[in-house]
Amino acid sequence: MSDSVPTLRLILGDQLNASHSWFRVVDENVVYLLAELHEEARYAPHHIQKLQAFFLAMHQFSAKLRQAGHTVIHLTLDDTAECSSLAVLIDQVMNEHQLVRFEYQSPDEYRLRSQLETLCTTRGWEGGSVSTEHFLLSEEEALFYFAQDKQHRMEHFYRFMRKKFDVLMDNGKPVGDRWNFDQENRKRLPKKWTPPGALLYAHDVTEVNERLERHGIAGWGEGSEPLTWPITVEESEQLAMDFIARLLPQFGRYQDALTDRDWALYHARLSFSLNSKLLSPKWVIDQVVKAYVDAPDQQSLASIEGFVRQIMGWREYVRGIYLSRMPDYATTNGLDNKAALPGFYWTGDTNMRCVAHAIQQTKKHAYAHHIQRLMVTGNLALLLGVHPDEVDRWYLGVYIDAIEWVEMPNTRGMSQYADGGFLASKPYVSSGKYIQRMSDYCQGCAYDVDQRHTDDACPFNSLYWAFLHRYRDQLGSNQRMRMMYANLDRIPAVELDNTLARADAIRQAPDAF
Ligand code: FAD
Ligand code: SF4
Repeated sequence: MSDSVPTLRLILGDQLNASHSWFRVVDENVVYLLAELHEEARYAPHHIQKLQAFFLAMHQFSAKLRQAGHTVIHLTLDDTAECSSLAVLIDQVMNEHQLVRFEYQSPDEYRLRSQLETLCTTRGWEGGSVSTEHFLLSEEEALFYFAQDKQHRMEHFYRFMRKKFDVLMDNGKPVGDRWNFDQENRKRLPKKWTPPGALLYAHDVTEVNERLERHGIAGWGEGSEPLTWPITVEESEQLAMDFIARLLPQFGRYQDALTDRDWALYHARLSFSLNSKLLSPKWVIDQVVKAYVDAPDQQSLASIEGFVRQIMGWREYVRGIYLSRMPDYATTNGLDNKAALPGFYWTGDTNMRCVAHAIQQTKKHAYAHHIQRLMVTGNLALLLGVHPDEVDRWYLGVYIDAIEWVEMPNTRGMSQYADGGFLASKPYVSSGKYIQRMSDYCQGCAYDVDQRHTDDACPFNSLYWAFLHRYRDQLGSNQRMRMMYANLDRIPAVELDNTLARADAIRQAPDAF
């Protein structure tokens, strides 16, 4: 018989960390609550596969907890149909089960964190929040590092993390004597190269689809029957090990490559598993480093370092920015952009082949790799001057891994430069030349990547020069953009006028392109 007080412990859909210390002891006085909420399913235009994946993962997680002896309430959309909010649901469960203490893992998302903090304050329950025990840096450490009055750069942060956690370090120096192997990385995919193909799962989604349909939640994109994403710890770890064995050796080399020959190339596709917390980032890093230590001749240090940088560097970095800068970050619009998101972002119906491919692939798989997000769809939205709220809404909906704490800094900060250069030292914009260099899209495109302003000129070209022209006052003195502005200044006046006129025409009616 336990002497603890009757307690409710809330587990959100992205808190599926089976190794959490909560689960070490079975306590008959503790009830765990997992719930599919209408509010959560509707607050963004979620991809249907994202809804399926979260609901299936929550279902299996509940079953696993029950098997281990814990008491679990798992509510589906059917059970929560009358529940207007998370707070109402918690009130109901607390009353119904006569629970007196409420505990929750601190949500990563500001919106949910505020809701739960307010709830606890107003109800005066015992309990409160605990850590999710997921990230490498604790929340306190992250907030200390990302203090408001300091300028932060990812590279400094990444080196700090490598040293702090002693990853790929050799007597205080980086293994291989370099922090960065970018020169070996970032190649275009060779012609006639056959990409390896992704490891896919096959989860039945019939019940989830019926449930979504019953409640009028359509979701965006294709429903993929069966669902190919991992939904358990075991599958997530298997996907990680498959990545390490088959794909990691080429990860760095082709991480920026763009192609319509494959949709995931040498990327890990671990972001859903990581963001739902099925998978521990520390575990992934340990396995990657172990693969290198065990068989250095079968792995490439450039790839190993490049991959560790993504998880230990970028992922923790954007989380620190989000934690320390919300809620103000959500309204930043440093370039004062106002345009609407073109309709083709939802349909993929555009003649720009690179864009059409990224969006159609997103519809089909709820996935696009980083460079598709940054240098194709993100680049275009920035060049068109789309309002960051609209860009954010799109990215928050359409990807399997989209959760605000990671989506927003990537979108507003890295991709849209809306935070005025806080996260990225310069806007990630390019003409069609970059896409041509990294992809095999341009040969089959309706547009000519070598033209700036003819009727068939690649839209990225005129938009890029017009972007630089438009923001000369704001960006012209940025040292990292000196070369770009020097190139702009080399364009003869008439050529520039024609280029700006074409950019205007595109910005006025992007859906015609
Ligand atoms: P890989 O390329 O194999 O990288 C491995 C892992 O590193 C990823 O799973 C991810 O956890 C981490 N990682 C890599 N880059 C980043 C990054 N910039 N920020 C944070 N983590 C990173 N990632 C999300 O997880 N959720 C999002 O909602 C999201 N939105 C994005 C929006 C934009 C505009 C951009 C440019 C990037 C966004 N990213 C987001 C970052 C990145 O594109 C994805 O993490 C990555 O494509 C996921 O695929 P993967 O697992 O195959 O990654
Ligand atoms: Fe994209 Fe321009 Fe190349 Fe067409 S020509 S695929 S629009 S970069």
